[in-house]
Amino acid sequence: MDTKAVRDRLLKRRDELRQRASDASADLRHEADPLSADFAEQVTQRENDDVLGAISHSAQEELQQVEGALRRLASGRYTTCSVCGEDIEPERLEAVPYTDRCRSCAEGGRAAGPRGVRG
Ligand SMILES: [Zn+2]
Repeated sequence: MDTKAVRDRLLKRRDELRQRASDASADLRHEADPLSADFAEQVTQRENDDVLGAISHSAQEELQQVEGALRRLASGRYTTCSVCGEDIEPERLEAVPYTDRCRSCAEGGRAAGPRGVRG
């Protein structure tokens, strides 16, 4: 596996996610767009805040997964499923570069048991 290419891809993704999360949280603080004095306008702004909050939240969740993948890459465990310890399918890593689970664990087949316990 070309770990350098994977790492570059993850780092690029991390930058995108950081940018997205910080843009959304800057908008949430209304740095460039102060809350309106008009009530109807405020309602619209608050609805928009809910959307921004969701964007920021999902960007941060994915960011954590990407950072976890970079740590696993650095420690040589990138292709190892964190649940069952088997290799993660290469095509799955291609599709979901930050995943830490093989396909069957991700689909819930063996994910019910305690982490790290096999068999
Ligand atoms: Zn697994």
